[in-house]
Amino acid sequence: MLDINQFDQINPPARLLMGPGPINADPRVLRAMAAQLVGQYDPSMTGYMNEVMALYRALFRTANRWTMLVDGTSRAGIEAILVSAIRPGDRVLVPVFGRFGHLLCEIARRCRAEVHSIEVPWGQVFEPQAIEDAIKRVKPRLLLTVQGDTSTGQLQPLAELGEICRRHDVLFYTDATASFGGNALETDAWGLDAVSAGLQKCLGGPSGSAPITLSEKLEAVIRRRQHVEEGIRTEAHQDGEDERIASNYFDLGMVMDYWGPERLNHHTEATSMLFAARECARLILQEGLDNTIARHALHGAALLRGVQGLGLDTFGDPDHKMNNVLCVRIPEGIPGEPVRGLLLNDFGIEIGTSFGPLQGKIWRIGTMGYNARKDCVLQTLTALEAVLRRLGFRAPEGGGAQAAWDYYDQQAADAS
Ligand SMILES: *Cc1c(COP(=O)(O)O)cnc(C)c1O
Repeated sequence: MLDINQFDQINPPARLLMGPGPINADPRVLRAMAAQLVGQYDPSMTGYMNEVMALYRALFRTANRWTMLVDGTSRAGIEAILVSAIRPGDRVLVPVFGRFGHLLCEIARRCRAEVHSIEVPWGQVFEPQAIEDAIKRVKPRLLLTVQGDTSTGQLQPLAELGEICRRHDVLFYTDATASFGGNALETDAWGLDAVSAGLQKCLGGPSGSAPITLSEKLEAVIRRRQHVEEGIRTEAHQDGEDERIASNYFDLGMVMDYWGPERLNHHTEATSMLFAARECARLILQEGLDNTIARHALHGAALLRGVQGLGLDTFGDPDHKMNNVLCVRIPEGIPGEPVRGLLLNDFGIEIGTSFGPLQGKIWRIGTMGYNARKDCVLQTLTALEAVLRRLGFRAPEGGGAQAAWDYYDQQAADAS
């Protein structure tokens, strides 16, 4: 028999989440989520949906009409775009520089794409020329990229890829989940046809909603497939061409019809998550997107100074580091997991472990969203030093927090 008295009210421990995401949600986002529900077609609800579209157009820096939410975690946004855009047999090219590039390959294969990938060693990113060379060789219909891959802390430059894609008539997508809001992203200026994101990294919300934006060109691709589904075949359709989208939930044609003026019933929009997504965007735009990105750059750089001040090495190409994730090499002779354990249990601070080729070799420390703050950085460095010294690593006394603190003072002096 289930003894219900053994189940207490939810009351999670106080944690400072300084890993690669999720991070602590901004309390204002949590308060927005606590708002009472309204009906799916209540004018206030459809009004909020329209506001969300406007707010995210500003965040994505786009005029794209179809800028909206996919209900689900960031992966739902990725999957909705891929399953809606990729026709079985389409060739896609994926430049892989970390774990999330492999995820794009995996999802594209399930969409029955012919998947071609190119790779660089973890810790590096691609030169635009290497991607163009691969496009010439593979002749893909879509280029699927990751902007910031949290597994390596690297940020792939995207600014030049749109023009390359345009020249070769390739659709251009990026997964910006980890980087969005903390690093520059210019959907229109960079020629992106689709971008997806999530709330739990630089946007300062919980996971569970995936903001996306789609170009007109990509909309046309999706509409053609939707019309096949609806039995409308134009002369342009060859037999078997534009096979129907193999998902109902992730059919972005239907999602557009729900978010558009038709308001055709599809899913029931996840109201509390929409409130969260709206508050995340509102807070950033109130701060000013450029200021938010600059804040991520400041605290990311301060953390780097502090980690170096502790005598630790970092991993990856420093010229292509994400503002919001730092990969720190675990020093020789120090066990990685006990460090994380003491930080969590005795200081309430979470930092990240790592995957694949980097497992056991690096920690990943994040400074993003609500936690891209001076107090979070100084607390984390102070605790990390204490834990390292306790486990026998001879970190310079006070070397971490003082170096970060000096950096903050220097930046403040330079700014005034
Ligand atoms: C964190 C992250 C995701 C996460 O997806 P979820 O479904 O929200 O867990 C996806 N892509 C990238 C690049 C990420 O860093």
